[in-house]
Amino acid sequence: MLVERMRPFTSTIFTEISRLAVETGAINLGQGFPDTDGPASLLADAAANITERGANQYPPGPGVPALRQAVADHQRRFHGLDVDPADVVVTTGATEAIASTLLGLCEPGDEVVAFEPTYDSYAASVALAGATLRPVPLRPPHFGFDDDELAAAFSDRTRGVLVNTPHNPTGTVFTAEQLTRIGELAVAHDAVIVTDEVYEHMTFDGARHVPMASLPGLADRTLTISSAGKTFSVTGWKVGWVHGPPGLVAAPRAVKQFLTFHGGAPLQPAVADALALGDDFYVSIGTELTRKRDLLSAGLADAGFDVLTPQGTYFVVADPTPLGYDDGVDLAWKLPELCGVAAVPVSVFCQSEAGAAATRPLVRFAFCKRDEVLTEAVTRLATLKEARS
Ligand code: PMP
Ligand code: GLN
Repeated sequence: MLVERMRPFTSTIFTEISRLAVETGAINLGQGFPDTDGPASLLADAAANITERGANQYPPGPGVPALRQAVADHQRRFHGLDVDPADVVVTTGATEAIASTLLGLCEPGDEVVAFEPTYDSYAASVALAGATLRPVPLRPPHFGFDDDELAAAFSDRTRGVLVNTPHNPTGTVFTAEQLTRIGELAVAHDAVIVTDEVYEHMTFDGARHVPMASLPGLADRTLTISSAGKTFSVTGWKVGWVHGPPGLVAAPRAVKQFLTFHGGAPLQPAVADALALGDDFYVSIGTELTRKRDLLSAGLADAGFDVLTPQGTYFVVADPTPLGYDDGVDLAWKLPELCGVAAVPVSVFCQSEAGAAATRPLVRFAFCKRDEVLTEAVTRLATLKEARS
């Protein structure tokens, strides 16, 4: 009975691999979620909002004013962006921001350009909107894009271009030059730029996150999306936001009213306070994750993988070809049995055959876990070579 356009999307790889990890008792480095809680002040604040401050009824439509102001302040503090809190819409996670933006912007038959591998909800939301995804491959080992392929993906049907930086699953952080080239095409085709910046505070080795809205001439056509889940290690809270010029942000604002109406009343003010945490907190995100990335990457390399070192996010992509595995889907399903660790295949995030072929052997591991968990995962992964011989 399911509508045809949703039939390819009946389950997600995260659901499948997390279930497999539970069934097999494997360490779950598949689905990306931290195994520690966010800042204590954030948790206490949210609890008090529920039990002491009565923030338990519908919040105002576009979000509580304190959070919309905090998002605007955060965008100025970290990215130099001038955002009017009136142009911020709070959503149920970045996922709802993405869905409501695409549903609100695309007419059936419109096209949306996105880099693949793409985060899984993009293809589903584009399909729900009756639009068509035009994937542009990011190829290993560096996951850059080809300018000609990018230009060829744009047409007079292009309604928007979806840009995720830092990029899940590849860990790529697009440079200002790359983003400028994307922006030039968006301008030439009068396309809306939709950016997904949920990993904005997770960059390594001096890589700098550049929001597209900060590039000259692009703020007027850009909708910027982010959320609290990654930054504050509260992926289950689903507090996200989208901001942009009034004419554009009107699209997600209208649609989200009829997806969830409005939620997260006790969580929104707590996130507002957390966004104002000091620089120490934000700096520690990068420092901690760099250490975790290096711990897991070294273990993967010792275990025999080629490691494609990420500059951002909390994922590392590894190539198991030297171990004799050339199909990441097959390996991801076997890995819990083989060594007690779960990972997700990368090719399932590709819509085109070319993208799937380019990423065929690759698997993605999450390193947003306690050091002792990563160390145990590394010990287990080291047994892979023996399992093979
Ligand atoms: N975009 C990307 C690139 C992601 O990795 C995720 C995963 N959490 C999301 C969006 C969804 O964010 P949220 O949990 O805030 O809906
Ligand atoms: N964003 C997380 C990841 O990429 C998981 C999101 C989800 O489970 N839908 O692993």
